[in-house]
Amino acid sequence: MALDEDPTSTATYWPSLAASQVAGTYWRCVCREFNPGDYDTCHFCQRPQPDTQPMQRPGTVFTPTPDDMEGAYGGVLVASLGDDGDAIALTGAKHTALEALDGYYRTVCRQPNLLDDATRPLTDAYYFLDSGHAVFTRTGDGGWEAVPAAEDTVEAVAVTWFRNPSGPVPEPYARQDGPHLW
Ligand SMILES: [Zn+2]
Repeated sequence: MALDEDPTSTATYWPSLAASQVAGTYWRCVCREFNPGDYDTCHFCQRPQPDTQPMQRPGTVFTPTPDDMEGAYGGVLVASLGDDGDAIALTGAKHTALEALDGYYRTVCRQPNLLDDATRPLTDAYYFLDSGHAVFTRTGDGGWEAVPAAEDTVEAVAVTWFRNPSGPVPEPYARQDGPHLW
């Protein structure tokens, strides 16, 4: 295979690829191998890098980079979801997500806080946070969708969803003072 045929090039390939993966600039060849973003041709099969990166094809599963999200707050990438005021943060830690989402809504949306209600304690927002894992998939318009997935799903990313708190406190929190079912 190409790896063994060109050991000199390989010496730079792996560090370059690692750096590109961190930066989110790598691309995937039709031969299914990954290449650093500054490689014009595939390291393995020498095919040219496509003008439209394979990463952008609808249905492609990917790990979001800063280019895919709307901003980073406290080092956590955040993006809105749809038009209903929902958002997603790329961390599974709710307290970290809370800070990042609060920063996003205050900075981008000009809200007094995440809840858009200065009279409410920020901790109320915990009711509207849902941590888990998601698989990010490209959509036909170049955007993406995040679908909840099991933790062990390939390329699943730890995330925290924020559901627009305009409605009532969601179940099961609304029943917290009711009879316990367990
Ligand atoms: Zn290739």
